[in-house]
Amino acid sequence: MPSKNYDFCVVGQGIAGTLLTYFLRKEGKRVLVIDKYIEKSSSRVAAGIVNPVTGKNFVKTWRADDFIPFALATYTEMANENGVDSFTKANILRALDSALDENNWISRTADSTLSDYLVDNADDREFSGKVSRPFAYGELTGTFHVHIKNILQHFRQQWQETGDLVNEQFIYQDLKHHETGFEYLDYKFKEIIFCEGYQAVYNPFFPETGLAPSKGEVLLVKIPNAGFKKMYKDKIFIVHQYDDIYWVGSGYEWDTLDESPTQKAYDHLSSQLSRILTIPYEIVDHLAAIRPTMHDRRPVFLKHGVNDGMYLFNGLGTKGSSIGPFAAKKFCNYLLFKKEEDKFL
Ligand SMILES: Cc1cc2nc3c(=O)[nH]c(=O)nc-3n(C[C@H](O)[C@H](O)[C@H](O)COP(=O)(O)OP(=O)(O)OC[C@H]3O[C@@H](n4cnc5c(N)ncnc54)[C@H](O)[C@@H]3O)c2cc1C
Repeated sequence: MPSKNYDFCVVGQGIAGTLLTYFLRKEGKRVLVIDKYIEKSSSRVAAGIVNPVTGKNFVKTWRADDFIPFALATYTEMANENGVDSFTKANILRALDSALDENNWISRTADSTLSDYLVDNADDREFSGKVSRPFAYGELTGTFHVHIKNILQHFRQQWQETGDLVNEQFIYQDLKHHETGFEYLDYKFKEIIFCEGYQAVYNPFFPETGLAPSKGEVLLVKIPNAGFKKMYKDKIFIVHQYDDIYWVGSGYEWDTLDESPTQKAYDHLSSQLSRILTIPYEIVDHLAAIRPTMHDRRPVFLKHGVNDGMYLFNGLGTKGSSIGPFAAKKFCNYLLFKKEEDKFL
């Protein structure tokens, strides 16, 4: 029977809680994870796309040069040391709708800060004859998609086998705080970190997180013999998953905590798909999940004002796969050494 004394308790095993636990365990810390498994959490529905250049004006995302190399190194380490099928490198072929867009793209290819990511001549051969060709294409390289579900599943199983993961809803009222740490059921730990995704809106210890959750919906689509390896972006993303199955998504809906898929989103995604694809396809699933987006679009690491040793790590928003590893490592350092600067990205 393993000891029920831990250094840390992490509540929530989405990408945030998994990465934080991963880094803490690498430092030799004992971590208890409490996570109520839900098939359709934000991390499990996400495509895990890491894309450093976004928007109409093709600008580099916030601190891409810090976050993306660190993310790639972390997922590579997980693949090499833990045998997790953790990511796929794939360029993004991006539709350009007009001469203005194309000129804008060409002018960005001359920007030396973007040269690692923009390909000079887009190669659309693998899509040719299978999609309605837009006005032009731009191509991004250095991009990849993270298999978040595989990562979560791998570590969940490992931690369950060692008795370090409890598949239950965490009941806030049952947490007891003593001078030396915390007690929950028959577990004891010195510190606790809540990584609950959007469900942090129900956490009574942190009433002011700055969360502004946003819902996203996705279709899983079978496109027989399409053979698309690159990610395709024309208003929506088409991303290869396995065999002939592709992830197609996604939109944003604000101000709802209802996790059910909607007809409106289904109609929107399927009409975009029929506009793009010129070959047969079949919709095999429709999923919805709620992202932990923030009012200011920045992740947070909060320390409880009164309860020593109580924290919240959240707000990975639309970019859990790219920002997650750097943020989790920084906050792990804070937990280990308590240097003020590590509380902030
Ligand atoms: C449709 C969609 C597409 C996306 N696409 C991308 C993308 O391409 N690239 C990208 O980087 N990001 C993408 N994202 C965003 C990404 O998914 C999020 O940034 C990330 O998943 C947030 O992870 P998290 O761990 O904070 O939250 P979650 O994934 O929500 O995990 C929280 C976990 O905590 C558990 N939990 C909560 N409260 C409790 C409790 N009281 N007791 C026990 N367990 C609890 C939940 O069950 C869950 O397992 C997308 C999101 C959506 C919805």
